[in-house]
Amino acid sequence: MQEPIATLKTLVIEKLSGGITAIGINVPGHSQNVMNQDFMQELEHVFAFLQQNPPRGLLVESLRDDSFLAGADIGQIDTVWSLPPARLKELCDKGRNLLGMFASSPWPSVAVIDGVCLGGGLELALACDLRIATENHKTILGMPEVKIGLLPGWGGTVRLPRLIGTGPAIEIIASGDAITGSQAKTLGLVNACVPVHSARESACVLIEQAVASGDYLKRRSELQLPQAMDKPESDFLVATTGAVIVGRTKGNYPAPMVAFNTIMQGATQSMREAAALESKAFSELAKTSVAKQLVRVYRLRERNRSDCGLGKSAQLTPNKSLHVNELQMPSIVGAGIMGAGITARHVRSGFVTKLVDINAEALEQSIPTILEEAAWDRYYQKTNQERVGELTGRLMPSTQLSSIADTDIVIESVIERTDLKRQVLAEIESTVSPSTVICTNTSTNPIATLADVFSDPTRFCGMHFFNPVRKMSLVEVIRGPDTSDSTVSSVVLHAKRLKKVPVVVRDSPGFLVNRVLTPYLHESVELLREGVDPSRIDKVSRRFGMPLGPLELYDMVGLDTAFYAGLVMANAIGDRIDASPVIPALVKAGWLGRKTGTGFYRYKSTGHDAKIECVNEKLVDLIDPYRLAEQQMADDQIRDRLFLPMLLESLLVLDEGIVRDGCDIDLAVIHALGFPAFRGGVLAWGDSIGAAEVIRRLDQFKYLGPRMKPPARLLAHAESGRPFTLVEESGSHSRKAT
Ligand code: NAD
Repeated sequence: MQEPIATLKTLVIEKLSGGITAIGINVPGHSQNVMNQDFMQELEHVFAFLQQNPPRGLLVESLRDDSFLAGADIGQIDTVWSLPPARLKELCDKGRNLLGMFASSPWPSVAVIDGVCLGGGLELALACDLRIATENHKTILGMPEVKIGLLPGWGGTVRLPRLIGTGPAIEIIASGDAITGSQAKTLGLVNACVPVHSARESACVLIEQAVASGDYLKRRSELQLPQAMDKPESDFLVATTGAVIVGRTKGNYPAPMVAFNTIMQGATQSMREAAALESKAFSELAKTSVAKQLVRVYRLRERNRSDCGLGKSAQLTPNKSLHVNELQMPSIVGAGIMGAGITARHVRSGFVTKLVDINAEALEQSIPTILEEAAWDRYYQKTNQERVGELTGRLMPSTQLSSIADTDIVIESVIERTDLKRQVLAEIESTVSPSTVICTNTSTNPIATLADVFSDPTRFCGMHFFNPVRKMSLVEVIRGPDTSDSTVSSVVLHAKRLKKVPVVVRDSPGFLVNRVLTPYLHESVELLREGVDPSRIDKVSRRFGMPLGPLELYDMVGLDTAFYAGLVMANAIGDRIDASPVIPALVKAGWLGRKTGTGFYRYKSTGHDAKIECVNEKLVDLIDPYRLAEQQMADDQIRDRLFLPMLLESLLVLDEGIVRDGCDIDLAVIHALGFPAFRGGVLAWGDSIGAAEVIRRLDQFKYLGPRMKPPARLLAHAESGRPFTLVEESGSHSRKAT
């Protein structure tokens, strides 16, 4: 390695042999290389230096492991919201022109992409003449801007379609999903995908070839021109990709469709004109409330990533006695729907996983499902059969509990019967070592009720996954009365290694998610009793942005499960919400939802994936004995009937200290219930209305009694004008859990 000729805060310039100059990226103070102000300014200085000291070729690489360049610094984005559109356009133009220096300088440039290369990082790589990706499994390339309601604004929508074609570019930009180095090679996004150790050498070879042939100059001129796209091709893209985007976003997330239109229009224009379209589109998206909410949600997720589960104080000044274990040997007990999903997630995340079920048949049946799910290829949307073979060795099934003796975390997921759970948990404790962490995936059992079978309850807590495990990323980590800090932190860390979003909650009926879900579900049945059509209720909810309406959700969860959960919730909310007589009536009729083929709806078949045929025609008769006075309601009133009770319950949850703050509630409802992220979560939705207006809307539902009465916290917010989402970090999760 030669001596660098300049070392700046974020960039290092080095001269290599053959007249090649290397720019090394190393942005301090961030877990990834990001394009902050320092980086952008220094890049400008580097180009000024290169004008004075022209190289034969330029190589751009990262000086840190696994992070090429992760895009713009989101921490600096708040300055953007207040800027007028013209200023936003200027900012896009400025950034794009700076990166354009790679493409307008006389010498050829190569980006060596090792590790994360996202957003502006990929736009920088695209501005280079050539790109090399590494085979490092941490190398990913993508443009995730649509996930925060924006689009690439530094040339991404202009250069990517010109490089790999309009259709594939739309897919990458409008989905926001990243691809691997080898997928990038297949698409022609990179010129080669090579092992890490030979990446620099390969880049130098590419530079030599480019200098010798001069091809890169011809290619640059071609890229300036409009791309050829005939009408059938354009019609095809509108009919296929465009239609998919409309279906996926349902009109709630504007960015993917704006990106689609910008790329389509830009493809037939010169590069300069396409760039102007990009700046305009970016400036418009940056003014939407959706972008602001999605950035907030992104930040909630980032806060969660850096949180050990014990609150801010533990983060800033780690408790010296806190011993956080990185658990390596997991076991799951119970191979049913949930146990299989949890096991698949472990296998997919690289753990050798033991799975125990007393029922040999259930165990055997779960194995193919687990392996197929673990080997699911999101990019190709199918199971990777080769991967199934590779993963088989990571799954260790058994009918004997003794097989998990050497494990360091056990997640019990047997059927929801308190006596059985207590018995299984006691057996687990006597089988494993004293240091093993033991969790229960219970939906309704208080942790305290299960904890008292333990001789050492400090190592025990709830770890509540949501169904289906592969889709729902939330995990509630429930602190029992004696759970230790190190157990909580170790389980939080473990959930993160499974790429889940853990939220620590206090032991209380329904924990967090089922608690705030209950009033919403209850209200949907009350609306039915007041004569509102079931499909209309679900339609209003889906139009609000929920993935399923409340009655569809009942059918998916199963009416028997919902009935049982309702009994548990009566403990917490019985003073405000009477258990509905409709749910037990459905259970009595044997209409348990999808699993029996009939519930609120009639299904084309039975089972988890059954499709709705129509509303259950016999429902009217079943509800008749329980009818309430009929109400005429507008869709907006139905929406408020459904979602305001969820907001009120969330405020009570805050009062009771069940979670640390409102951020955790918003994060939880998004990741467990699919609450629309573009609304920012239930409290952010409440803020978009304002406390005073919430009270006004509740007033029209006064006739419904205590469940629509504004709680004290709501009145206080209306009085002070303080938003619900203002963070009041209490420092730690309450340990007085009872
Ligand atoms: P399930 O009925 O599909 O599976 C339970 C499994 O446990 C069965 O395979 C059974 O053979 C096995 N089992 C019973 N006794 C056992 C023992 N002594 N040792 C080992 N295995 C034993 O149940 P499920 O839906 O997977 O639920 C499991 C747990 O997850 C429950 O506590 C439930 O409340 C919770 N949960 C369920 C959902 C859901 O939607 N299904 C969601 C979140 C949490």
